[in-house]
Amino acid sequence: MSDTTTVINPATESPIADVPIRGLDETDEAVARSLEAGPAWRAIAPADRARLMRRFAAQVEEHAEELAQLETANVGKAIGESRDEVGMVAEVLYFYAGAVDKHRGATVPVAGGVDMTFHEPLGVVAAIIPWNFPIAITSWKVGPALATGNTIVVKPAEVTPLTALRLAELALDAGIPEGVLQVVTGRGSVVGTRLAEHPDVAKVAFTGSTEVGRDVMARASGTIKRVTLELGGKSASVIFDDADLEVAAASTPGGVFANAGQDCCARSRALVQRSVVDRYLELLSKAVEGWTVGDPTDPTVKMGPMVTAAHRRVVEGFLAPGMGGADGGPVSAYARGAVPEGPGYWFPPTVVAPAEPGWRMAREEIFGPVVAVIPFDDEEDAIRLANDTPFGLSGSIWTRDGARSLRMARAIQAGNLSVNSNSSVRVQTSFGGMKQSGFGRELGLEALASYSDVKNVFVATDG
Ligand code: NAD
Repeated sequence: MSDTTTVINPATESPIADVPIRGLDETDEAVARSLEAGPAWRAIAPADRARLMRRFAAQVEEHAEELAQLETANVGKAIGESRDEVGMVAEVLYFYAGAVDKHRGATVPVAGGVDMTFHEPLGVVAAIIPWNFPIAITSWKVGPALATGNTIVVKPAEVTPLTALRLAELALDAGIPEGVLQVVTGRGSVVGTRLAEHPDVAKVAFTGSTEVGRDVMARASGTIKRVTLELGGKSASVIFDDADLEVAAASTPGGVFANAGQDCCARSRALVQRSVVDRYLELLSKAVEGWTVGDPTDPTVKMGPMVTAAHRRVVEGFLAPGMGGADGGPVSAYARGAVPEGPGYWFPPTVVAPAEPGWRMAREEIFGPVVAVIPFDDEEDAIRLANDTPFGLSGSIWTRDGARSLRMARAIQAGNLSVNSNSSVRVQTSFGGMKQSGFGRELGLEALASYSDVKNVFVATDG
């Protein structure tokens, strides 16, 4: 009999469910079931496997409102965001259902025979999921893993397991066979480490912090597992004096305060050309006032609470006196939004300006609704500042000069950049990091490669 943990609604601080804390034996049993389910899953004709995945997508659509409400109750994210993310889950499953019979091998011109390639499934995939986008990130791994013929064991974050558990039920309802998609709840230090080390797990698809990603990679090395890592970020919006400043400033809150800033792609540094900093800040203050914080089930609210009390303390720590620079000066906020009274792990949207590039809050991933506004002089200075971080996940370039936008996009070391936009994630395009933001690509057709191995077969035809 497993122990249980109580899942809390971060907006009300009330308990919403009790979920089992699984141990090592239960993790091993899930891996064994996954291994056993593999051959039959791969034997299903491609068009039928695609059909099952489409039915799964349709189940998600039919239960979209239930899933969105569950995600909001568990994570505290604004209901509009949860609805969008659940909509994306269905799109991801449709997209990869369409890829089942299109992930083709090649014939290669060689001497003495015929050479061909196959994309072979890896076997059992383990997906380790963070708490900030629980259902969306689960689907990013489930979609390509199932489409390429793997079975998958999902380990959700301890505090946000509810939508992954429901997703697995919907997969069964859609006719996906038992054992193909399982969810094992429990601690990262038990279930997560076991999955990373397990000899029968062929690949770990990890999304989470850089620190834990490093540990997962080390553990996976024992059995030479395939590993993809989607890790932290400290992304920059680079705003030039020739940009549409009104649009850039109005878009800043969405780029950093969405999901209460608990977003690996959060543009938590706004690099602004010195000549327009004052005007930009004026416009930004107005935009921050409009970024309403409150009950996340209210569709007019833009931002809910932090996911846990402990995480709120971490975020607060970045603004504490002594965080500023080598001399330890205070970090003072330039503009702050309002938060509700009463229960809930609230934290106001916060603009720190001007921030020094050396301050801890300007260098480390805060994972909360805090943006550091840092002035720059010219293009060269902007590139230097944007790249002055061990991370390389995403970022934005705001300018009306097309050539400059391309020069900047090539010069910034990040896996996902947008020009005059803060959009980082689309079902059809690849997503992933450079530098210590990780490696491997999710979404798009690119993800299929990291859930399969290329096998080369040569058939001699001469004599
Ligand atoms: P985390 O690293 O603490 O935990 C992520 C998952 O790993 C959880 O399921 C956890 O239980 C598990 N885990 C913990 N220790 C483990 C271990 N030793 N071995 C195996 N598994 C272990 O991350 P978090 O706090 O849940 O999420 C926030 C982080 O995720 C941020 O750094 C954020 O940038 C990152 N993130 C990255 C992306 C991306 O796509 N790049 C997306 C979302 C979140």
